[in-house]
Amino acid sequence: MSENILPSCISLPLSGKELEEIVSKAKDYALMHGICMRSKANFNPDNLQFAPFVLTPSLYPRKEFEKATKLQIILNKMIHNVAHDVDFLRETLASTIKVDDFTASLFKIYETVLSEGVAQEISLGLVRSDTMLETRKSCFSKSTCMPSRSFYCCVAMTITLGLLRSDYFVSDRNKILQVEFNTIASSFAGISSQFREFHSYILQELGHDDKVKYLPENNALAGLCDAMVEAWKIIGDDKAAILFIIEDVTYNICDQRFHEFYIREKYPHVKVIRQSLTEIFKEGKLGDNKTLIVGNVTASVVYFRAGYEPGHYHSENEWAARLMIERSTAIKCPSVHYHLAGTKKVQQALAKPGVLNRFLNDENEIKQVKEIFTGLYSFDKGEGGDETVKMVLEKPENFVMKPQREGGGNNIYGVDIPERLKAMDETERSAYILMERIFPPISKSYMIRPGGPNPPPIFDMVSELGIFGAIIGTKEKILYNRQVGHMLRTKVSSANEGGVAAGLGALDSVYLT
Ligand code: ADP
Ligand code: MG
Ligand code: MG
Repeated sequence: MSENILPSCISLPLSGKELEEIVSKAKDYALMHGICMRSKANFNPDNLQFAPFVLTPSLYPRKEFEKATKLQIILNKMIHNVAHDVDFLRETLASTIKVDDFTASLFKIYETVLSEGVAQEISLGLVRSDTMLETRKSCFSKSTCMPSRSFYCCVAMTITLGLLRSDYFVSDRNKILQVEFNTIASSFAGISSQFREFHSYILQELGHDDKVKYLPENNALAGLCDAMVEAWKIIGDDKAAILFIIEDVTYNICDQRFHEFYIREKYPHVKVIRQSLTEIFKEGKLGDNKTLIVGNVTASVVYFRAGYEPGHYHSENEWAARLMIERSTAIKCPSVHYHLAGTKKVQQALAKPGVLNRFLNDENEIKQVKEIFTGLYSFDKGEGGDETVKMVLEKPENFVMKPQREGGGNNIYGVDIPERLKAMDETERSAYILMERIFPPISKSYMIRPGGPNPPPIFDMVSELGIFGAIIGTKEKILYNRQVGHMLRTKVSSANEGGVAAGLGALDSVYLT
């Protein structure tokens, strides 16, 4: 684990009494401002719990934050072009769909609508590019995406220098690297947009009013919702609704409702309806001109907050519902090709030398995107899969193995990789990609969870920054392209994953330094 430690934004620990009081205030603030979720362990649809949170915002290098936010519109454009490149998606996912039924089912829908003729040329992308700060990046050779020969020597130097001058790392050493790019159900824009006020309140209560200015604005919720309404306006049917596709049980309900309520408050004439794929199968149909009709309402924009994992498709019915939506003239967020463009396999293919030139034509933009790619490798035999296996077995702790899944909890980490790989044949392993593990700097603060210890302990933690983007366009033309806000998720440094909805991470915000 990295030796880099980011200082906390205020001096910790807090005294017993001060801590007790601020934790109590923070919990109540969270409960009263919708920083909440439904409990998985004690599910009751009538109850909410506050979402896990970090008490004080985490330090984040301003330069890297600004880099990430500036890059977003380039990444939006890149993924939009990827999603509209039929040959690229076919080639890239050919071996994956032979072994991964879920991706294969999505791909079948894609091929079906392509052969029938796509009814809606416009796509809506509400995306989130997730990054972590890497404490060791300069040790990697970007052109080959392979660790350079001096890699281990560099690690040693990094650690030594880190012990001598920790400030050096905050400003110069930590660079963002992309963890993944989400093109479906990119969550937490709603709750994260409350976090600047939340952490401002905490800092003020602790007597640090002067520090509030270091918390950047975050309008992610407005940005995503305004883009949905923009798509709705393009269709131009005043009576039509925006349809949210939801799970059978929504745990992350506040985040979703924030979107709905924002739309209803700012655009009262725009209806929002919520249905699961199972309900759409029963109540949905295509009208004469392939308009999507749910009950007696036309849905002109479809926003998927479900449908990204196999568990959301209980039977062929849900797949039939997804196909029906895809066949309709509604603007989909995402269209199936956007969903496919967000797979881990596509992420790996984009990191291969020369591939980005197909999707971006400005050399400077290509360079900026390449800089945030970490080493990504294929397990396909025809794409050097045997070398990938050899490399990971030599130093498994430096890697993460990822299948084509979303929503957390699916990856295989470090020392678990060799055994899992051994149990797979060559075909099975090609459903996965291999990624170099990112080693982010450690921050320290109180992490507060419902039912957690009181007073809470101070943890060593690492953070993942997500930048939200909104894009609307056709293959030929991008009509709308914006960076709209951010989220910070923080987990205990020893945990492999930090999904907040999955119960492993906590919501946080950035304190720019
Ligand atoms: P998902 O689509 O399921 O969210 P991710 O690729 O984001 O999949 O992986 C889930 C989590 O695993 C991330 O949020 C992060 O905490 C951790 N993770 C993923 N890739 C890496 C990596 N290369 N290095 C370190 N941690 C990673
Ligand atoms: Mg994801
Ligand atoms: Mg993720």
